[in-house]
Amino acid sequence: MDYEKLADLLYPNTKSPEYYEKMYPKRNLNGGLVTRFAPSPTGYLHIGNFFSAFIDRLIASNSKGVFYFRLEDTDKKREIEGTADVALGILKEYGIDIDEGLTLKGQKGEYGPYIQSQRLEIYRTYAKELVKRGLAFPCFCEQTNSLEQIKENRKQMLQENEELEHKDVCRNLSLDEIEKNLEQGKSFALRLKSKGKKDDKIITHDLIGGEREMPANCKDVVLIKNNKIPPYCFAHAVDDHLMRTSVVVRGNEWLASLPAHLEIFDALGFERVNYIHTPLICKIDEETGNKRKMSKRKDPEADMRYFKANGFPKEAVLEYLLTLANSNYEIWRLNNPNESYKNFNFKIEKIGNSNPLFDMAKLCDISKNIIANFTAEQVYDKVCDYSKEFDVEFYEILKSDKNYAISVFSIDRNGEKKRKDFAKYSDFKEYFKFMFYENSKNIQDYELDNINLKNLREVLEVYLNIFDFNDDKQIWFDKIKNMALNLGYCIDNKEYKKNPTAYKGNVADVCTMIRIAITQRKTSPDLWTICNILKNKTTNKINNFLNILKN
Ligand code: GLU
Repeated sequence: MDYEKLADLLYPNTKSPEYYEKMYPKRNLNGGLVTRFAPSPTGYLHIGNFFSAFIDRLIASNSKGVFYFRLEDTDKKREIEGTADVALGILKEYGIDIDEGLTLKGQKGEYGPYIQSQRLEIYRTYAKELVKRGLAFPCFCEQTNSLEQIKENRKQMLQENEELEHKDVCRNLSLDEIEKNLEQGKSFALRLKSKGKKDDKIITHDLIGGEREMPANCKDVVLIKNNKIPPYCFAHAVDDHLMRTSVVVRGNEWLASLPAHLEIFDALGFERVNYIHTPLICKIDEETGNKRKMSKRKDPEADMRYFKANGFPKEAVLEYLLTLANSNYEIWRLNNPNESYKNFNFKIEKIGNSNPLFDMAKLCDISKNIIANFTAEQVYDKVCDYSKEFDVEFYEILKSDKNYAISVFSIDRNGEKKRKDFAKYSDFKEYFKFMFYENSKNIQDYELDNINLKNLREVLEVYLNIFDFNDDKQIWFDKIKNMALNLGYCIDNKEYKKNPTAYKGNVADVCTMIRIAITQRKTSPDLWTICNILKNKTTNKINNFLNILKN
């Protein structure tokens, strides 16, 4: 077969590989590693892909290398408009800076274009090279035959030669037959002439998984589809080579196709890239009880937009992913509570090998610690940012009186023992609802349990008379004790324990009654602080509650 002729027939007028090799020279980064994030715009950013991108960024930063973004948009049928921008927006929000490639402001860098659909000429050039070297062949099956016919042909071929399992029928076409097909205007897919044989094994190497023996590829995989567009396996090989990628970080769901990818790299004469197949973040499937990759269809948290929409601080999400990425991260964090994670010495070899389970409780714990360390002003800004997008009504309330909101968010924030009640920005509204909204008009919404309503009314009525929001905490409490004493409550705990039936209750019960009227709950932050911030609203709330009690 005259492969040169075949190559010109299939791909006339292309540039040469040398042209592109020169155009995209090896990078001179003094050991800096080149990583890339290469999502397909076929859905919203998956937490697993974000995890890979984060690792890409860490590897590039730690080695003073380059992290670039490439859009793998060759599957036009599955493309969902806007998803690339969503991915770029999320990376930006999380501070995963892109050094090169596609950004929200367009493409930048010397190794572009960074959008695969703009690189078809380049793929043609390398496809032609494979044909020239007798390593790829055109396949007309899809156009010429029905699926049944393809299967039938394959069966026949196998009967003739068992060795050819997985090989495509068209690899046996003569130049004349190919020419005829082309003259008839038939389109073709280009396939790799795989050298692999059944039962062949190869050794693959992964920077975290080490060496693995795997079945060799023996399929004549498609390199360029009928529509002239390459699928991932070919496009990424050409791109990762020409963009001078040193490490490909991708989810370990790609492991199975690694032998085919390696065969393509080898056929093209490219130096193999290093791979890191990252562990997949998993869940236990509710129906089957089995561990499985997180799915955007089943798990809302698989979609990175979930965390923002639910008010998780981005610091917490990154922190959580870092604990999955490097097993020694948590200890480092304990010893370096105030350092930026960027100062952590991230190590490729410390990336775990087994698929972790997504742990919402752990994320919440991390988040609570982070939020506990924010100042009230920081909380105000962050809750405002969150609410502006996801809870406009609350945002308007926060904006209408900034000082008031900050004083509310200051509650239990400055002392030694910081409360860790908040895992999400959205929790603040729920927790401090009574500070920003009128209380419920429905008696069922108050945690009254078995409180005697007559006693309750009595306490509240007297409290209304003695309450003055200008009182300091001591005076305020002295007044309450005095009131408790007059109404038949015990103010000495020891005495009360000795003789409980002699009293209506103790002073703590009195405070609980006031607390319920104001906050609807039996537990709340410090009561004096609440009353002191609410000022006149304290009496309004109690009056409203007394009205509800009357009905
Ligand atoms: N486009 C592929 C995906 O979105 C990229 C895989 C890779 O990182 O190589 O899954």
